Amino acid sequence: MTNYGGYMGRVVLLDLSTKKVSNYVWTDLDREKYIGGKAMASKILYDNLTGKESPFGEDNLIVIATGPLTGTGAPSSNRFDISSLSPLTGITSSSNCGGNFGYYLKRAGIDALIIKGKCGSPTWIEIDNGSFLFHDAAVVWGLKASESQAAVQKLLNDSHGKAVRCGIATIGPAGENLVRYASVISGERAAGRAGMGAVFGSKNLKAIAAMGDQTPKIFDPERSAAHRKKWVNYIRSHPLTGSQLPKLGTAGLVSTMQVRGLLSTRNYAKGQFEGFEAVSGEALTEEQLVSNNGCLSCPIRCTRMVKVDGKKVKGPELETLGLLGGNIENRDLDLICRWNYELDELGMDTISAAGTLAWAMEANEKGLWDNGLRFGQVDKLSQVFDDIAHRRGIGNELAEGSKRLSEKYGGADFAIQSKGMELAAYEPRRAVGQGLGYAVANRGGCHLNGGYLVVLEGLGMNVNGQTPRGKADLCMVMQDIMEAISLGGQCLFTSYGIVPGFMVDKPNSLLAKTVNAVVPCLGPAVRVINKVPEIACFNLPLIPYPYELNYTVGMKMNIGKFIRTGERSYNVERAVNARFGVSAANDKLPKRLTDVPQDPNNPKTRVPLEQMKRTYYRARGWEKNGLPGEKKLRRLGIKSW
Ligand code: SF4
Repeated sequence: MTNYGGYMGRVVLLDLSTKKVSNYVWTDLDREKYIGGKAMASKILYDNLTGKESPFGEDNLIVIATGPLTGTGAPSSNRFDISSLSPLTGITSSSNCGGNFGYYLKRAGIDALIIKGKCGSPTWIEIDNGSFLFHDAAVVWGLKASESQAAVQKLLNDSHGKAVRCGIATIGPAGENLVRYASVISGERAAGRAGMGAVFGSKNLKAIAAMGDQTPKIFDPERSAAHRKKWVNYIRSHPLTGSQLPKLGTAGLVSTMQVRGLLSTRNYAKGQFEGFEAVSGEALTEEQLVSNNGCLSCPIRCTRMVKVDGKKVKGPELETLGLLGGNIENRDLDLICRWNYELDELGMDTISAAGTLAWAMEANEKGLWDNGLRFGQVDKLSQVFDDIAHRRGIGNELAEGSKRLSEKYGGADFAIQSKGMELAAYEPRRAVGQGLGYAVANRGGCHLNGGYLVVLEGLGMNVNGQTPRGKADLCMVMQDIMEAISLGGQCLFTSYGIVPGFMVDKPNSLLAKTVNAVVPCLGPAVRVINKVPEIACFNLPLIPYPYELNYTVGMKMNIGKFIRTGERSYNVERAVNARFGVSAANDKLPKRLTDVPQDPNNPKTRVPLEQMKRTYYRARGWEKNGLPGEKKLRRLGIKSW
């Protein structure tokens, strides 16, 4: 039970080994401190994992958590989070998904689901208004993601005697075969990163379907509706969320990245790709786009629908275009659309699959591993992806990810990963703050968990990407703010709206130039707000999230508390990972990015990581070993580990 709006007030613990369903104690004090989503999951993992568990062990937990805004109609708010020990990185990790499962989990009366144990044989689970039914998954095991969802939907329709409205989360063959970067798919959206699909597979869990007729109450319906109206108008009028994302999707960033030397090319050997026009957002829109689409309750609708074999399917995001384009020297956009669809169907993360492939091409070229893969030779890659998902031939090895392969064959210096997770398509040697973020990100080489500083360093604003000055503090505060945004259930793309519109519309104006010059100098101010967030006991229209939590949930949120919540989330995730051996030594990047300048004539075009790391730990108030000490955790209200 809860006194807050937005929540259903129930967290369920599900033991697959015994099929026992029980309620997990989660109080309103926990809700105040952790809000929901990933922070809630990290706290649950912190309270239950000792450091001895393994990703594929029965003792590993999966936490599927929604936010209090999920299912309330707030803009772009129907996302859900899956957290677990990752088979790719060996530490806890999370993956965020925009499909409809989170929405329907709330309709079933549940805020979060904790899954432990292992089913004796392949199983799918039906959650109907809070009741659980276990079904034999023999007929769906082996099916691809859309086939599995269609089959489960039909089984439900047949058993209920009517068309059932539900949300389904499923794995594809990659998850069943324990590919370390297998994803979970809901609708056409993927919880792509960190191998959550393989954890499902290790538990013999093929799919979960949720349904119900319950709705969360809104704390102050009138003020909530008025605030949303203003917010949606703002989103629609902003140059990034109202124009660029709906018009070009994230793919629109490819051209800007090319100009700024940020586009991963030839396994990150370069930051510019000669054939970039062929795989740009503009080309995608002109040649492939059939229509826009979007997640539930999203006014941005950034999804590009394209046709593959005459079927309308979700098109590739920027990361996939970059990594399956220039990073493997491919100029064929048709093929990228096809692979993107095939990878989703197989249930496999496009970023890690593409990053591992680029490493394997270079390893072959350098004579380290004779695997037949070559840059620019891309006609047989559909077969390679299928082989990965079914662990056949070299696919069985590629299924392990670039870190493990480089430990076996050599080539660690050009295995573009951090903590075992392959980096996204943003080449960080021209955006060193993004490089720091990749290295220190709790879940590994993730652009978003790393603070996404590249938006400031060239993709929205134009802060000098080559200077380390101020980047550690900015990285910390961006991580905390993005963390806090996602805890409510909202899409991080809404945060583009925080970049003032004139910075995008008039980047060469005196005002924009001044802001860009001043931002790196804000480090000390940022650190003060981070140390004493109580001084930011106000709200600003440019940051609409605390208002939403006030009116919809009733949380009495302000900017200071909001940042503190994000900080708490980041620290509790770090603390649980410390149990699995994470420390400063794991916050690293491959030598290609730290030691080899992108431009041989400009020694500054590399990531000065060690220098920024030291400042980052100080800014976070962490020990020199890169971990929060007892005092720091106590300040955040987290019991020491
Ligand atoms: S911005 Fe795009 S990814 Fe985010 S919620 Fe909207 S449609 Fe989904």
